[in-house]
Order: sequence, then C-alpha cells, then structure tokens
Amino acid sequence: MIILKSAKEIDLMRQSGRILAGILAELAQAVKPGVTTARLDALAEKLIKKNNGLPAFKGYRGFPACITTSINEELVHGIPSPKRVLKEGDIISIDCGVTYKGWVSDAALTVPVGRISPEARRLLDVTEQALYVGIKQARVGHRAGDISAAIQAHIEQYGYGVVRAYTGHGVGRTMHEDPQVPNYGKKHRGVPLKQGMTIALEPMVNLGLPGTRVLDDNWTVVTEDGKLSAHFEHTIAVVNGEPQILTQL
Ligand code: MG
Ligand code: MG
Repeated sequence: MIILKSAKEIDLMRQSGRILAGILAELAQAVKPGVTTARLDALAEKLIKKNNGLPAFKGYRGFPACITTSINEELVHGIPSPKRVLKEGDIISIDCGVTYKGWVSDAALTVPVGRISPEARRLLDVTEQALYVGIKQARVGHRAGDISAAIQAHIEQYGYGVVRAYTGHGVGRTMHEDPQVPNYGKKHRGVPLKQGMTIALEPMVNLGLPGTRVLDDNWTVVTEDGKLSAHFEHTIAVVNGEPQILTQL
C-alpha cells in the first residue's frame, strides 16, 4: 500500500530532510585519512541530537549505529567501528536516516578520502549522476519503471554493474514503505507516480559485476568480485506533478 502525503506532511519531511542534508555535509567534511568510522558515527549522533532529531537507523532491526559506513568494495550497511581507520585513496559511502517530528528522511553519499584514483572518481560521478537522472523521471504521468530504466541506462552505458539486491523505497513515518523502486527495470512499467508520493531513490553501482554478498557480521554488504562500489541517495517527493528533493539544504 502506497501512503500519499499531504502538503503539510511533505513540509515536515522536508524539515527532516534539511536536517539530514546538513549532517551529511558535515560528515563529508570530516572524512579524512586517519579518521575512524566510529568517530563519524559519534559526530552524526551529536548532530542529530543537536537538531532535535532521532537516529532512524539506530536500533533498526538491531543496527547499532546512526550511520552506515561502507568503504571501497563495501556497498551498504557497514557498521562503524573504532578499528576502522580511513586511509588516503579510499572511498566511503555514508548512509543516514533522521526522524524529525515523526517523519523519516533517508539519504546517502560516497566521499573520497584524500586523493582517489581517476577510476574511483568516475564511479562516484556516474553514480551521483544516475541518482539525478532517476529523480528527473519522478513525475506525474510516469511510472516507477521510468525511474528504474533511466537509472539503469545511465549506469550501464559506462559498463558498470547495477546492484539488484537492494532498491529504492517509499519513505514516510517509517523508513521503508511501498513502492520498491529498483535501479533497473523497464519504462512504462510499475506503479503510476502520484502527487504526494515520497520515495528514497538510491542507485548502488559496482565498478565490476552487479553481484553482492553479506559478510559474517550479518550487515556489511560487499561486491562479490571485490571491486569498488558507490551509493548516492535522496528522499524526494512528487509535488505539483514534479520531483522535489527533500534531503537538501
Ligand atoms: Mg539510506
Ligand atoms: Mg534508503
């Protein structure tokens, strides 16, 4: 069941999203060689509290932290740790969820640690572009499949692998609502997009093949071939027929 939001509800989600965007910007600034992922999580927790929000991830199915930190071949759901130290040339995906006045926003980005290879840089750029290509399709008159197909086409033209196992999703009072919006699919298929839909779109792109597996910690998802992976996400709303990004400043 897809839960459509009123203008007032979308405004509250926008407030939640603005807080989250500010936090992600600060976290991105804090990414440097020598910093641990636990320190990034502590910073996220401090900033969420300061903004009168709640960490949507902490406790979600038992997840122990406010952000997920996924380095290099790790794709999503990495657990922050004081033992995990960032080093020059890494890429780190930071995913965060904020609940504010009962409304969840969900966003992610992948950040270079110091200088990265041109290969890694291109992967980040293409993944971020794929997110915006998908967002553009989130209009009344289109279907979810139009978003999926556009994201897939953008990614595959570079020969990258589109992750199949994890998808975008509706978001609202809870972090995961209908519909699921995969990063692959066919045009003109899927649910029609409507005024008041709020969706987290999140392309996950592998430098190599699309396959993934979960590590023994039961959380961290890595690429099967051990190659790099990147992830960008925004929460958006369909308003006046058009997409609006809620997780921005
Ligand atoms: Mg997320
Ligand atoms: Mg999400």
